[in-house]
Amino acid sequence: MERMFGRPIVTQEQMRARIREMGRQISADYAGKDLVLVGVLKGAYAFYADLARAIRIPLRVDFIVVASYGSGARTSGKVKQVTELTEDIKGKDVLLIEDIVDSGLTVQYLVKSLAKKKPKSIKVCTLLSKPERRVVDVQVDYVGFKIPNKYVVGYGLDYQQKYRNLPYLAVLDQTGDQGE
Ligand code: 5GP
Ligand code: MG
Ligand code: MG
Repeated sequence: MERMFGRPIVTQEQMRARIREMGRQISADYAGKDLVLVGVLKGAYAFYADLARAIRIPLRVDFIVVASYGSGARTSGKVKQVTELTEDIKGKDVLLIEDIVDSGLTVQYLVKSLAKKKPKSIKVCTLLSKPERRVVDVQVDYVGFKIPNKYVVGYGLDYQQKYRNLPYLAVLDQTGDQGE
């Protein structure tokens, strides 16, 4: 069997505890509102499923698929939204669910794109953030973990489409393509 990654930088237990906290916070902040969770696939799938079940108020679920171009491990900054929402978000309170905010370009693009559909509000929730890597100033309202400038995999995040199923977060080997 192909070896999976060794030491986690965020363990399953830490994920579980933090996501429970985030769910509590979001439940309080959105009580009485018309919440739609918009997940950004594929990366956010694992976090999304866990977070949605940690939120204890009624909500709608929806997804968009985003492709970013470039051969490296990092985003090239050119983002393409490949699928449309299925829910009408006009007048609703949208929470965009991301795996990681790195340069910030993807979130910046998606918030602009969703705003055109006239939701009542849009906020951003991400499992991970690398503040050191930011090139645009985007507002991120809920952050699970701030992490250092290392390429991570697991818990939804991939390296060449693999390792998304790793149940914890690990740093990719230094021998890997860092896309720089
Ligand atoms: P941004 O547009 O903020 O630069 O990048 C967001 C996207 O870049 C993420 O959704 C993810 O696909 C990719 N990305 C950035 N950093 C990492 C990382 O450390 N690991 C993985 N697997 N993807 C990353
Ligand atoms: Mg993402
Ligand atoms: Mg990726």
